[in-house]
Amino acid sequence: MKFGIILLLILFIASPLLFFSVSGEEKAASCDAFPHDKTSNKKGEGMSFQIQKSDKDWKGQLTPEQFRITREKGTERAFTGKYYAFKGDGVYKCVCCGNELFSSDTKYESGSGWPSYWAPIDEDKIVTETDTTLGMTRTEIMCAKCGAHLGHVFEDGPKPTGLRYCVNSASLDFEGEEEE
Ligand code: FE
Repeated sequence: MKFGIILLLILFIASPLLFFSVSGEEKAASCDAFPHDKTSNKKGEGMSFQIQKSDKDWKGQLTPEQFRITREKGTERAFTGKYYAFKGDGVYKCVCCGNELFSSDTKYESGSGWPSYWAPIDEDKIVTETDTTLGMTRTEIMCAKCGAHLGHVFEDGPKPTGLRYCVNSASLDFEGEEEE
């Protein structure tokens, strides 16, 4: 009888401890898994880019809008950029360094107001970084050669990747395919 009461008492005291240890583990697991980046692009954190220029040099080369977006991680207003509804065949290059980033073959109408692609030309062309500004956790995309801010990648894109590379027109320079 006495033993039974002691056992109940131990269970009563230990149960909250058990509960807390389980929920603690769950919390740790979800922290590790978040944010979830399903792209195969390399991480840009702490990366030293091949092309390095001073702000003065970038300003001399870019328009104020291009500088604000690519070098200061700005965003153009939706439905205002020159490429969101553009449908030409060709290649979209980095406006800063000419790195060939996206092809018209993967461009699609996302309805977001920004040019959207379901994949870059090559995964190595782009690096990603976790962006926690504006109270959101997003995956920033940058040119792997010069670090230009391009936009963000989201996981609501079409097949086959399910990804949406959402890019500012101001960070791109389109070059049309030559007719043969
Ligand atoms: Fe670049």
